[in-house]
Amino acid sequence: RAARNGEDGVRGYVPSMGQIFLRRFQLVTQFRQALESGQIEVHYQPKVALPGKRIVGAEALVRWSHPEYGRLSPDEFVPVVEATGLVDALTEFVLERALVRIRDWLERGLRLSVAVNLSVRNLADETFPERVREAFDRHGVPPGLLTFELTESSVMADPDRSLPVLRRLRALGVVLAVDDFGTGYSSLAYLRQLPVDEVKIDKSFVLGMGTDLSDMAVVRSIVELGHSLELSVVAEGVEDDSARDQLVRMGCDTAQGYLISRPLSEERFESWLWARTTREYPKGAPELGET
Ligand code: C2E
Ligand code: MG
Ligand code: MG
Ligand code: MG
Repeated sequence: RAARNGEDGVRGYVPSMGQIFLRRFQLVTQFRQALESGQIEVHYQPKVALPGKRIVGAEALVRWSHPEYGRLSPDEFVPVVEATGLVDALTEFVLERALVRIRDWLERGLRLSVAVNLSVRNLADETFPERVREAFDRHGVPPGLLTFELTESSVMADPDRSLPVLRRLRALGVVLAVDDFGTGYSSLAYLRQLPVDEVKIDKSFVLGMGTDLSDMAVVRSIVELGHSLELSVVAEGVEDDSARDQLVRMGCDTAQGYLISRPLSEERFESWLWARTTREYPKGAPELGET
């Protein structure tokens, strides 16, 4: 058992390799049961159109309330689940929830889109687009209201398989976005060959913009590159007004981050949306989410 000194001088606990493997093994074996028993929830983080505050949609972000380990970050369990076939069940679960939300909003006169994160496995699965099409039909949702976010590395893992899947998804009318853009090494040159509509600047650059001139330069070049390729540009990790103002000056299209809201449970997102809608549109919300 290893230990190190924490900030307060307390010896921090660092798990051993055996404990890490045990925990991963448990997460894999418990995941399906967790999905079925309601331990896995989908939270929503709003996106707004710049330069204003108009809400255009939300990103669906998964959460696991584990009975033993507490609230687990998707950065811990998604990669573990991704290493197994179980990620198909996760994507399907999140997609179903997203389509129910979109449908529900439409019935209340709100045209909001939801972004769902895809895994490298979904991109390698040639049956995936057909299952997505079937889900749209079943829910009666226009495909243009759904965005799939995928990272460059998940596409590059096996481009011969993933590119045809992406083209078929796009042919359905789904919006495709490159997530965490700027972190992969192939970035700039490769972007123009990807069949995508949107590029999402990685939050590390957006977070660093206020203190690091090179982060600022990276953000500016991604906005310019995106626009020159006729892509819509989204910034994630917008935490303060100065980042927002910079992004507005650069002409970035959409912002997502703690400044607008943290990811919220479905219920809290609904109240947040409701409060926003009634404050900004006291006589009803005819234009909310309209483009
Ligand atoms: P991502 O898709 O890049 O999602 C953005 C992450 O940034 C989220 O972390 C979000 O909570 C966080 N974030 C948003 N605004 C801010 C901000 O202003 N400041 C800071 N510091 N962080 C912000 P989260 O929810 O922990 O998700 C982490 C990653 O897990 C996601 O990164 C995504 O890659 C993955 N993930 C989440 N849900 C799913 C899912 O349903 N399926 C798959 N395959 N992956 C998922
Ligand atoms: Mg994402
Ligand atoms: Mg991201
Ligand atoms: Mg990420």
